[in-house]
Amino acid sequence: MERILSDFESRLRRSQEWLFNALWEDVLKKIVVDGKITPGMGSIRAINTSPVWGRYYRYLRDEIAFWMVEIMGGKLTDSILDFFSLQISSTDLEPRTRAAANSLLTSLGYDGEKFVENGTLYALTSDRTAERKIKALAIAAAASGKSLKTFKKEMTTIIKGDAQNLGIVERHFQTNANTAFAEFDRSLSLQLADKYKMNHVIWSGPKMTTSRGFCMARKGKVFHRDEIRAMDNLQWTGKIPGQSTLISAGGYNCSDILLWITDELAEIKKAEQAE
Ligand SMILES: [Zn+2]
Repeated sequence: MERILSDFESRLRRSQEWLFNALWEDVLKKIVVDGKITPGMGSIRAINTSPVWGRYYRYLRDEIAFWMVEIMGGKLTDSILDFFSLQISSTDLEPRTRAAANSLLTSLGYDGEKFVENGTLYALTSDRTAERKIKALAIAAAASGKSLKTFKKEMTTIIKGDAQNLGIVERHFQTNANTAFAEFDRSLSLQLADKYKMNHVIWSGPKMTTSRGFCMARKGKVFHRDEIRAMDNLQWTGKIPGQSTLISAGGYNCSDILLWITDELAEIKKAEQAE
């Protein structure tokens, strides 16, 4: 999971680079004369109707959303399958895992070829927040005839971020997509655990300074599924309201994984923990 999320991070940063370069090229062509922004309606219209926006959403769909689908149905499903096949010997395991993965992707709005409108993945890549923010900045610059240097600096900060702040694509995707990856993992695992009557999980995830206390207290420990279910009644920061802890674990942005284990293995682990 950590590896997937860090690959995803680089992909988001690349998409910010792409957006900045494409927009900057378009802006220079349309609203800059002799190194200065031409103030006025013509410039504002040029920014508003820039063809870059259409290309941006296609870029997000092709480079971000399709990649997510590929990873979820590929690497992520494979690693879950690997883990279960250490404990379960059933010829059904693989076809069952693949079928469950495909049906989860369908429920996220991917029909095997394209994204279905209003599905989670479609919504993720058609969000207009970035476009609105950048347009507001550009319109203010064109209206006031701001210096090109100032405008470029502001645009760089808003799109790519700086030492303190994430860039505009990262900010939108980080929580939503990380949560989507982790929930995919937990949902698929839970379906298999139900099927093969597994009742215990190891709450698994790296201990980081950014981990929330709720997760920190649970990492590395074995729980019965009823104990996890009972956590639904607790309150903590980051909890996703109404969502089962078996699916959402620590909540928003939590990348902890629930590793399902057999009752025998759970007994061994519990005995180790009691020592
Ligand atoms: Zn967590």
